[in-house]
Parts: sequence; structure tokens; C-alpha cells
Amino acid sequence: MALYEYRCDRDGSFDVILAMGTAPASMRCPACASQAQRVFSKPMLTFTPPALATAIDHAEKTRDEPDVVTSLPPRPAHRRTPVLPLTPTLRRLPRP
Ligand SMILES: [Zn+2]
Repeated sequence: MALYEYRCDRDGSFDVILAMGTAPASMRCPACASQAQRVFSKPMLTFTPPALATAIDHAEKTRDEPDVVTSLPPRPAHRRTPVLPLTPTLRRLPRP
């Protein structure tokens, strides 16, 4: 079964579900019973989530037009953290 769209000049568009390939060029409007012409609209093939579509677009853009950098990214602030606890034994060891 497929969804076909028809447009009545007076009442607007309406959808009809018919077997695939059996849709006539015109059909009676369910509201006014006048002849409505079949409309070819784009199929709803893309149900991609917006976040995924954005990620795919970004990946394609960086592939085709990669960002050019002129320097290395800034280094993160270096924080010195003690690797081992300062016990009296370790305090006697030489420091760098
Ligand atoms: Zn109508």
C-alpha cells in the first residue's frame, strides 16, 4: 500500500492509501465530490534525527573543506600534582 496525494481546487489536498501503482490521475474529493488531481510530492524517505544530520553535514564539510590551522593549539595549564604522598622517606629523595 502507498500513500497518494490529491488536490482539490476548492478544499485543498488530501491523502488516499491505495495499492502501489493503482492510483488514478484524478479522484473524487471526499468533501465536495469534485474531481481532484493527483499531486506528486517528494517522498518522506529521510527520517534522520537532526543531530545525526548535523554531524553528517559537518563530517562532509570537513572532508571537502578542512579547516587550515597555522599554529598548534594552546597547551593546557600545567598543574603539578604529587605522584606519591610525601612521606618522610620520600622527602629525602633528590628533587628535579
Ligand atoms: Zn473538494
